[in-house]
Amino acid sequence: MKLIMKFGGTSVQDADSVRRAVNIVYDRYSEHDLLAVVVSAKRGVTDRLITCAEAMINSKDAEEVADLVSFLTESHLTTLKEVAPDFYDETGEIIKRRIENLQDFLFAIYHLRELTVRSRDYIISFGERLNAPLISAALRQRGIPSMVLDGCEAGILTTENHGDAIALPSGEVRIKTRLEPVMKYSVPVITGFMGCSEKGVVTTLGRSGSDYSATIIGAAINADEIWIWTDVDGIMTTDPRMVPKARVIPRISYIEVMELSYFGAKVMHSRSIEPAMQKGIPVRVKNTFNPGFSGTLIEGGEQKDSRVVKAITYIDKVAAITITGAQMVGRPGVAQHIFSLLARHQINVMMISQGSSEANITLIIEAHQVRTAMDALMPLKERCVFRDISANEDVCAVAVVGSGMAGMAGTAGRTFSALGKAGINVMMITQGSSEVNISFVVRQEDGPKAVQVLHDEFNLTQMEV
Ligand code: ADP
Ligand code: ASP
Ligand code: MG
Repeated sequence: MKLIMKFGGTSVQDADSVRRAVNIVYDRYSEHDLLAVVVSAKRGVTDRLITCAEAMINSKDAEEVADLVSFLTESHLTTLKEVAPDFYDETGEIIKRRIENLQDFLFAIYHLRELTVRSRDYIISFGERLNAPLISAALRQRGIPSMVLDGCEAGILTTENHGDAIALPSGEVRIKTRLEPVMKYSVPVITGFMGCSEKGVVTTLGRSGSDYSATIIGAAINADEIWIWTDVDGIMTTDPRMVPKARVIPRISYIEVMELSYFGAKVMHSRSIEPAMQKGIPVRVKNTFNPGFSGTLIEGGEQKDSRVVKAITYIDKVAAITITGAQMVGRPGVAQHIFSLLARHQINVMMISQGSSEANITLIIEAHQVRTAMDALMPLKERCVFRDISANEDVCAVAVVGSGMAGMAGTAGRTFSALGKAGINVMMITQGSSEVNISFVVRQEDGPKAVQVLHDEFNLTQMEV
């Protein structure tokens, strides 16, 4: 079997978890599978890289760099010593050199007081670039031949939108020609989260992007399966941190996972399903801490079961922008003006609602883009395309997801009457034409309660029949 295995940050955060990951790879290696491993940064490292890079713009004396350097050195070298003592000197040197390179780069940002999107991407790719040599050494310590490739070396080509880059189809052949020969004699460890543009500049794929790296690679080499190893038993009926009684979903369709991840289920990167879906490659989500458990199988088809709703998801960092004005009524092209301005500023609109009177349009966007969106749209107000524009950041979006909803009357009724009974006011509702989700907006403080109420309403804690 040709298999891609991706290990998330929690699954490689210390010596114990690295040993667990190595055992998992070893089991498949001894079954003579052809394997490629994709790794994330150790848990928390990407956040620290971002914080330090951003601090450089206003830092007094760049002292944050010393803290980061000692944290990264201590964390990676300690784990390395435990999991790969025979390779400590050789791999330790690589890790130390990379940390020095990072340090020089951070000082350069400090002196220039400028952090461009390109430099930010380069800096945040270090989390994966420090971890991959460590994991590869741990595999070699266990007797598995292994080598390290960064995302560019593995052939991942992306668009130039730094921080949220998208894989280019032209990368497929490169990935295939670079990886397939290597997989015949070793288990390559590839840094997740990063690729490069056609000019060879490092790009990153968006937070949680290592999932996407794994599916881009899996699709390019026509893997039989892609396994995403994480710290929970699979994709669950909702975020288990919010509803402890959430249950694992044994099978789910590509479309359903796309809707879930798009609407905030952190378990997978929102674009990561697409490459697997295009090639029809099954994806399994499994728990490194419970490897014997079957996890969740994501594949094509409707995966319909007796249950109409499969999962509930929630995003809190969103904002609603409302545009009003009687002059919009019956006037063609208003929406086009609005969307083209937002697109020009790289603002993604997650939900839209427009009343039939057309006197107002509400858009849901990510909260950190509110200022940019308001500034981008203001010229339309000045040109009297609309009368007023306002933003509300005290909102969150909840989505009810399940392909069984298509063509079944009553899910919306049940959803909104359960919310009504719980005293939760719904501010906006949308339903995609695929009918795989119903999403709505409530006040931020009502979000967790809405998730809980709907999880109960649709009996999601009970096993499927
Ligand atoms: P990794 O580091 O392995 O990529 P993440 O932290 O990105 O892991 O994603 C796994 C986490 O996603 C879980 O620990 C869980 O708390 C959270 N999560 C949110 N929604 C869901 C869901 N519907 N199913 C499973 N996990 C979820
Ligand atoms: N390390 C990156 C992040 O924290 C990518 C990943 O973990 O998938 O977002
Ligand atoms: Mg993740």
